[in-house]
Amino acid sequence: MLKYAPPLQKLIGELERLPGIGPKSAQRLAFFLLSCPDEQVEELGQAVLALKAEIRLCSRCHNYTTGDLCPICEDPSRDTSVICVVEQASDLMALERSGEYQGAYHVLGGALSPIADIKPSDLYITDLLERIREVQPREVILATSPTVEGDVTAEYLRQLIAPFPQPPQVTRIALGLPVGGDLDYADQVTLARSLRGRTKMEG
Ligand code: ZN
Repeated sequence: MLKYAPPLQKLIGELERLPGIGPKSAQRLAFFLLSCPDEQVEELGQAVLALKAEIRLCSRCHNYTTGDLCPICEDPSRDTSVICVVEQASDLMALERSGEYQGAYHVLGGALSPIADIKPSDLYITDLLERIREVQPREVILATSPTVEGDVTAEYLRQLIAPFPQPPQVTRIALGLPVGGDLDYADQVTLARSLRGRTKMEG
């Protein structure tokens, strides 16, 4: 088997671990970087390091941020009487791209899954409930993925919110999203339509 110089081999190995990058793409990217000017490669390296050093989770919604609150939580023009619950920050970004939504978000950090052993305590559920109690939003949109896990998570949250003294309206984004897919794979039009067509969740 052909052996590359160790630094090159190391980079190819790291790139291969990225989603959607196979051995051939990893090789191509590594050789491309090798041919780039030093400054460009340095900037890429710095950007990768800064990702972990400077980015943290918003203390309110768990979106990625560099400050205490994320830009969405800090934006006074957002309608805080609606909270849209998503699994991942990438889902939040997908909904933002759709341009359809002007409310607040809450990122759960995943979905319930017995197979992957993801329990309620592994997700940001407790502080979602606290937030609902405190803010008393008029609506909570459950925008978890159209997967078994996403549906189970939405139903679990609905059951927790229903007994609140003044429960918000709990809605679920409409079908029409590719079943089993993640929100961030859906195109903007589909996402906007699915948000507009959300339905009330009944017990
Ligand atoms: Zn936030």
